[in-house]
Amino acid sequence: MNSQPIEVNARLYRWMERPVVVVCVDGCEPAYLDAAIDAGVAPYLKRMMQTGASLLADCVVPSFTNPNNLSIVTGAPPAVHGICGNYFFDRELGQEVMMNDPKYLRAGTLLAAFADAGAKVAVVTAKDKLRKLLGNDMKGICFSSEKSDQVTQEENGIENVLDLVGMAVPSVYSAELSEFVFAAGVKLMQTQRPDIMYLSTTDYVQHKAAPGSPAANAFYAMMDGYLAQLDEMGATIVLTADHGMNDKHDSQGKPNVIYLQDVLDEWYGAEAARVILPITDPYVVHHGALGSFATVYAPDDATAARWIQRIKELPGMELVLSRAEAALRFELPADRIGDIVVVSERNTVIGTSASRHDLSALEVPLRSHGGVSEQRVPLICNRPVAGIASNRRLRNFDAFDLALNHAQ
Ligand code: ZN
Ligand code: ZN
Repeated sequence: MNSQPIEVNARLYRWMERPVVVVCVDGCEPAYLDAAIDAGVAPYLKRMMQTGASLLADCVVPSFTNPNNLSIVTGAPPAVHGICGNYFFDRELGQEVMMNDPKYLRAGTLLAAFADAGAKVAVVTAKDKLRKLLGNDMKGICFSSEKSDQVTQEENGIENVLDLVGMAVPSVYSAELSEFVFAAGVKLMQTQRPDIMYLSTTDYVQHKAAPGSPAANAFYAMMDGYLAQLDEMGATIVLTADHGMNDKHDSQGKPNVIYLQDVLDEWYGAEAARVILPITDPYVVHHGALGSFATVYAPDDATAARWIQRIKELPGMELVLSRAEAALRFELPADRIGDIVVVSERNTVIGTSASRHDLSALEVPLRSHGGVSEQRVPLICNRPVAGIASNRRLRNFDAFDLALNHAQ
């Protein structure tokens, strides 16, 4: 076994003394944990927070799933790894492009680096869209709950996952899709004892259920049982989230939406501006592709500067930044965001045109994320951590640093 520290993206990570499990709970606003603990349904989480380390961290903005998952496994912001949403507008191609392909990754993951150095690595993610990015160039086990019936040794480093886990393939819109991740994590720890494991859930429940609600507490109670089992097997566990989650509706339950493409079309004529919502992905039923972050492409910088002043005055806006300002402030790759970055406030989301959003599938009042208002996330370890400067701004992508460098 290697005992030298491993350098990944200009950060050093110590070799693990015991298995390290980093859990990314999708959409885990800190209040979910507090409410579940207060309700008495998460006794292990309570113990973890009391006897280990209970910290808060800032996620990456846009507070979306892919940029943050990639930040956690690279230990770096999107300016380094390149993934700043699900979509961007490729000016050279003149079209909107999905950023799910590993070819858009600009940095290696620490999972791959540890695997190369001889560590046994396992990754389980709820949705398959993340699997290829997380497992890029990585030797080891990597599969999704969503496609758990299609795993092969060659592609996923494992076979017969359904037999191992003892669950059927869950629906992509279900709490079970995340439960499968935890159940698989426990079985993998029992049978393979990976040195490093990364578990990443989906926020289906969090989009629908507020902290303390019965469905939310049931989710955290489920999670609690699996985490307790991983702890019993001796793992160092760090739990964090890709982003928080907030209500995005008024007191009548109607979503608060700024249809920014419609607004800009009205101000400047159709086709002057192009609004891109990087939250858009193939699974939009639970949020209607509405989040609190958008980018706008303008014909030129002078026009962008004028538009910024006017967009700022729309009610419900939190921040309207130029490309350069946003790239600096949020550590984003400047070539993959628009000329303008627009962030709406806590209870407001941004859409393109009203006609392009199908909200008929929203069964409950809209909850979503994407903005600065969803930046606060838990960063919890089942062991005390040492050597963290009191003035350090912790990030969710410090999860592996915490587990490997400060908790052992
Ligand atoms: Zn997410
Ligand atoms: Zn979401």
